[in-house]
Amino acid sequence: MSQKVLLLPGDYIGQEIVPEAEKVLARICELYDLDITTESALIGGSAYDAEGYPLPASTLEKARAADAILLGAVGGPAYDNVERDLRPEKGLLRIRSELGLFGNLRPAIMYPQLVDASSLKPELVAGLDILIVRELTGGIYFGQPRGIRELDNGEREGFNTYVYSESEIRRIAKLAFELAGKRGGRVCSVDKANVLEATVLWREVVTELAESYPDIELEHMYVDNAAMQLVRAPKQFDVIVTGNMFGDILSDAAAMLTGSIGMLPSASLNESGQGIYEPCHGSAPDIAGQGKANPLATILSVAMMLRYSLGSPAAADSIEIAVGQVLDKGLRTPDIAGAGEAVVTTNEMGDAVVAAL
Ligand code: ATP
Ligand code: MG
Repeated sequence: MSQKVLLLPGDYIGQEIVPEAEKVLARICELYDLDITTESALIGGSAYDAEGYPLPASTLEKARAADAILLGAVGGPAYDNVERDLRPEKGLLRIRSELGLFGNLRPAIMYPQLVDASSLKPELVAGLDILIVRELTGGIYFGQPRGIRELDNGEREGFNTYVYSESEIRRIAKLAFELAGKRGGRVCSVDKANVLEATVLWREVVTELAESYPDIELEHMYVDNAAMQLVRAPKQFDVIVTGNMFGDILSDAAAMLTGSIGMLPSASLNESGQGIYEPCHGSAPDIAGQGKANPLATILSVAMMLRYSLGSPAAADSIEIAVGQVLDKGLRTPDIAGAGEAVVTTNEMGDAVVAAL
């Protein structure tokens, strides 16, 4: 039976990078004889323009029926004045919650060819390959009660609730252990158990689950130390698993270790293994329509999609190898080019990956 991939280009450079990734997917299907069909739908600002809503019912319906979703990016200045509930970003938040995507995977890989583009010392990041597994549907970003309330003395107070149930902790930790088993075999669980009771439970549940994974080495770290270690000696990590807020912060920090935002893929998975795959960057309105966007983050997201939702790890490896070869040849979009280096367009970069495949 054929597998279904839904393409959601979205806005601005989303509409330039997704077609490049689509070319790569088509080629990999030929090479590996994969029976994958694709269709496209609207999300974000382009959906708002066409239908007055950032996540049309038809898009959600197609998303539910798909095995995997490849998304570009949403939002941009054209939608700054749109009513809050109809903003492009709402479409993305809504589709994530409708599909129950609790597990956010963000690899931070430093391609040796791009070490010069990193903001850190080459010896710190060369060969960096870590995976941050962030819980995406719980924790303080969703906990109730929340709000701003007035106190008896007339002063206002803002409040949120940091809450995780045992089952929420267990499913994200399980995902991290399983992934670590296919990588370096080490998990670092990040919490703040010296201060936050919610994370005392987090630590307990993760420790308990580790007994079912005797081959995985588990370590616990407080988030402040983890932030420090990530900058001081990032290569000590293999898989980092953490809650929503800590994961948000640490994954952005890890991303900056690797140089360009144009190189970073991501996956968000639900319990049935269905997922949304997208670059970590936004819609980059400043460079849209100029052929300057780096399509590699989206192309690498296709690799993640083949590995985690479509059951074709060998095809995923091929795409990652092809990206490495294209970088070896010196092809660079402006975001990863050094001073005076020649650059290629979005389109040329996509074609080069197809040719390398
Ligand atoms: P969001 O809020 O959606 O994360 P943002 O405004 O924080 O968006 P981006 O849209 O990711 O950030 O853009 C940040 C900078 O990175 C911009 O200068 C943009 O041009 C650049 N950038 C982002 N993605 C790419 C890409 N694929 N190729 C080249 N440059 C990119
Ligand atoms: Mg941003």
